[in-house]
Amino acid sequence: MNFELDPALAALRDEVRRFIDDVVIPEERTVEEEDREGRHDTLRRLQQQARSAGLWTPHLPAERGGRGFDGDAGYQAMAVAFREMGRSPVGPRVCNCDAPDQGNMDLLLRHGTPDQQARWLDPLCSGDITSAFAMTEPSPGAGADPGNLRTSATRDGDHWVLRGRKWYTTGGRDAAFLIVMARTSHDRRGGATLFLVDRQAEGLEHVREVSTMAEPILAHRESEFALHDVRVGPDAVLGEVGDGFAMAQERLVPARLTHCMRWLGLASRTLSLCRAYVVSRESFGKELARHQLVQQMLAEAASRIHAGDLMTHHCAWLLARGQRAEARTFSSMAKLEVARTLCTVLDHAIQIHGGLGYSDDMPFARWYRMARAARIADGPDEVHIAVIARDWLRGRLDV
Ligand SMILES: Cc1cc2nc3c(=O)[nH]c(=O)nc-3n(C[C@H](O)[C@H](O)[C@H](O)COP(=O)(O)OP(=O)(O)OC[C@H]3O[C@@H](n4cnc5c(N)ncnc54)[C@H](O)[C@@H]3O)c2cc1C
Repeated sequence: MNFELDPALAALRDEVRRFIDDVVIPEERTVEEEDREGRHDTLRRLQQQARSAGLWTPHLPAERGGRGFDGDAGYQAMAVAFREMGRSPVGPRVCNCDAPDQGNMDLLLRHGTPDQQARWLDPLCSGDITSAFAMTEPSPGAGADPGNLRTSATRDGDHWVLRGRKWYTTGGRDAAFLIVMARTSHDRRGGATLFLVDRQAEGLEHVREVSTMAEPILAHRESEFALHDVRVGPDAVLGEVGDGFAMAQERLVPARLTHCMRWLGLASRTLSLCRAYVVSRESFGKELARHQLVQQMLAEAASRIHAGDLMTHHCAWLLARGQRAEARTFSSMAKLEVARTLCTVLDHAIQIHGGLGYSDDMPFARWYRMARAARIADGPDEVHIAVIARDWLRGRLDV
């Protein structure tokens, strides 16, 4: 077993880290403040710098302007690059690899027809538009159990008519199109289809922005939509009719792994930020760093970040070997562990900084509110636990 990072990947890590440290982090508060005012001047300037630095959509094939991390083998390069980008909450967007666009690009790249790619993928890759993925519905519709899918698509000649309601469509307000999952039959496995729906389509109502625990930032704002007889042509079907559940699953495995990469970056930055306070602040006659209960929090954070890194790299390695089926359970493990790690590390950082940590003078409270969603989105903890236990009980998990 060789734990040494390939020299090319180590160089990539250092390159992205320098860009995030020197260019993005000094401007992240400005990007956030401008976003609150609906302006994106600084974001656009940073995105231009990412292009010049060769860090724009690096996950895409070279002919689409990326660095060729595409395909399963690219997940190891992604694990390195996305972790560094994730150290800033705005880093992934600056490099045009943020969720949900990055996963949607992946889907369009694998399954889009040339016409669909020209209409939606090209402007998505160039950063001219953004996109959203609409699977989840208010109760009693699809949620942790996608089998509850209620939004329907019925044939009308060679067209389809979509009816239903979606919520938690991240980035839906500003997206140019939505990938909508709708029921096309009652078949348990083949009952869903993905549709590319123009955000301006007649009958697609943006009901509201759902106010959540986290402050909305860039595309990370949650929308609710009503689909009132939205009529789309046969060219709106992404992939094959009936492949919706399988394609969503195919999107989710790598998508949850790329979340892990970004979350580990943020957890690692959070821990680094603790260093300055624990060595400078004194309590009961000694530095905080010398109190064992503080050391316990630091050690737990460091160990769990390291464990998360190993799990994420292992899963990326499985994908690189084309072992998608095996990667599935390990991606559930990584997602479960890393989502909890991010929340724990941020909680420890708040605790270690006391009142300062709870205040907005430090970023931890803001990041924690955002991070808490990690244990719910892309499948809540409990569903991943159930998947891991099921596969272990069936003897499919060799641990
Ligand atoms: C910030 C954020 C962004 C999101 N972005 C998107 C997006 O872009 N597109 C999209 O389609 N969806 C998105 N989602 C939705 C997300 O995928 C769902 O919230 C998630 O799948 C859970 O579904 P639900 O909220 O309906 O929870 P429910 O299905 O109502 O489940 C509620 C709770 O029940 C428990 N539970 C459920 N199943 C089990 C089980 N098998 N065993 C034990 N306990 C269980 C869990 O504790 C779970 O949290 C987002 C969610 C969040 C919070």
